[in-house]
Amino acid sequence: MKYDLVVVGGGPGGLMAAKTAAEDGLKVVLIERKKNVTEINRYCAQIFYIRKLSSSKAGLHGDGYIEPVAVEVNDTTYRFNFPGPDFSLDYNGPLKPYYNWIELSPSGYPIYRRKDTIWGFFYDKETFLAGLLSSAQKAGAEILPETIGLAAENTPDGVRVRVRGKAGEQTLEARKAIAADGISSNIVDSLGLNKKRQVLSPPVKLVCYELEGVETGLPPFTWIAPCIPSINRLMVIFMGQAAGDKVALGSGTEEVLQKFMKHPTFAPWFRHARVVNKVGCVSGAKHGILTPIREPVERNVVIVGDAGSPTETWIQGALASAYMAVKAIGKEFSGQKGYPEYIDWWQRAFYFHNPDYFRMVLGMFALGNAWSCDEDVDYVYNLLQDKQGPPQTIIAENLELIKPGRPELYERLKKSYEEAEKMVPKAET
Ligand SMILES: Cc1cc2nc3c(=O)[nH]c(=O)nc-3n(C[C@H](O)[C@H](O)[C@H](O)COP(=O)(O)OP(=O)(O)OC[C@H]3O[C@@H](n4cnc5c(N)ncnc54)[C@H](O)[C@@H]3O)c2cc1C
Repeated sequence: MKYDLVVVGGGPGGLMAAKTAAEDGLKVVLIERKKNVTEINRYCAQIFYIRKLSSSKAGLHGDGYIEPVAVEVNDTTYRFNFPGPDFSLDYNGPLKPYYNWIELSPSGYPIYRRKDTIWGFFYDKETFLAGLLSSAQKAGAEILPETIGLAAENTPDGVRVRVRGKAGEQTLEARKAIAADGISSNIVDSLGLNKKRQVLSPPVKLVCYELEGVETGLPPFTWIAPCIPSINRLMVIFMGQAAGDKVALGSGTEEVLQKFMKHPTFAPWFRHARVVNKVGCVSGAKHGILTPIREPVERNVVIVGDAGSPTETWIQGALASAYMAVKAIGKEFSGQKGYPEYIDWWQRAFYFHNPDYFRMVLGMFALGNAWSCDEDVDYVYNLLQDKQGPPQTIIAENLELIKPGRPELYERLKKSYEEAEKMVPKAET
C-alpha cells in the first residue's frame, strides 16, 4: 500500500489527524476540496470554550465537547491544553476573552447564561488551522488540495478511497482512512452509516454580517442572543466578536438581520454601524440535524469531528477526536485493541450522546413554537432575569412561576415542551 492513512477533509479534525499521524511516523495523505486548505468560507463564531455554557437538570455541559480545556498564556504565544487526551497546541494569533453571554427579550430584559466570568475566547480559526497545516507538512504529511473524497470502500486488508481532483478521478489505497469531511460527509454516506440515524430537524441556514462601529453599551465582550418572535420565531439571532474590532451578527436570513438592526430597542446600537462582510453557513447541512453516530468505526474507516455529530463537535472536539482516532489506529497497527477504546471515548466525550442534549436543542424550537407575540418573551424574561442558564432550560424548570400571571402562556409553553419531549431520542446503551 502506498499509504498507511488517507484523511478526507482538511478542517480542524483532518489537519489534526494528519499532523498526529505524520508525527507518529505514519505515511499519510490528506485530501481537501478547497484550493486554499485553511481558508474558512462559512461562518464560525471561532470561540475556544474554557467553561461550560449552561446547566440542565442533569447538571451536564450545554453542548459540544464536554472536557474542560485550558488556555495557557505565555510571553508571546498561547497554548491550548487538552488534559484528557493529553496534548497541547500552540497558537500565535489574536485572542479576545468573552466575559458575558446575555439572552435579551424584545424590550431588553436579560437572562444571563454566563455573567462576569471568562467562559471562552475569540480566536482566529484560519491562523490556528495554518499552524496545524504547517506542523502536518513539517512532519511529512502529503496534502492534496482541490480534491474531493467521493466514497470509501473497505477491502479485506485496507480501504479504497475514490477521489476527484483536477486530473480526474482516482482511487487512493491505504491501510486505514479517517473521515474528517464535516457535517455533510460523503464518506459517512458512502458507508451507509446515515441510514440508522434519526432526523430531528431540517438543515438550519444562517447568514452573518461582519460589522464595524456597533455600540451596544453592554458589558464588554458579550455574546448576545436576542429573542424577538415578531422578527424570527426560532430565536436564532446572535451577535459576537469577529476579527479586529468587528462584530458578527447572524440569523436565518438577511431580512431578519435588517429588521433586527431597525428594531426600536436595538437600532441605537447600529447608528454608526457598517456592514463590511457577509458569510453564510448551514448547520446540520445536507441531511438536517441527525442523531449522532454511536460507533464511529466501520472496519478500516474511522470517523472524527462533525462527520459523526448531529451539528457540531466544536473545533476542540474535532481536534480531540482526531488525536484519539489516530492513537487508536496506531494501536490497531501494533495488534492492540484501539477501536473499542476510541468508541468508548467518543461516547463519553460529547454531550450529544445524552438525551438532555436533544432536550436543549428541541427546547429551543419548543419555545419558538410557543411564543405568540413579543410581549410573551418580555413577560417571561422579566420574571426570570435573576436565573442563570439557557432560556429553554430555565423556563422549563420554572414553568410554575409563569402560571399565576399568564395561565394561557403557561399552558402553551407546557404543551410545546411536551411535544418536544416526544421527539427526544432515548438514551442508547
Ligand atoms: C454557525 C456555527 C458556529 C460555530 N461556532 C463555533 C465556535 O464558536 N467554536 C467552535 O469550537 N466551533 C464552532 N462551530 C463548530 C465548528 O465549526 C465545527 O465543529 C468544526 O469546524 C468541525 O471540524 P471538522 O474538521 O470535523 O469539520 P469541518 O470544519 O467542517 O471541516 C471539514 C473539512 O472537510 C472539507 N470537505 C468536506 N467534504 C469534503 C470532501 N468530500 N472531500 C474533501 N474535503 C471535504 C471541507 O472543505 C472542510 O475543510 C460552529 C459551527 C457553526 C455551524
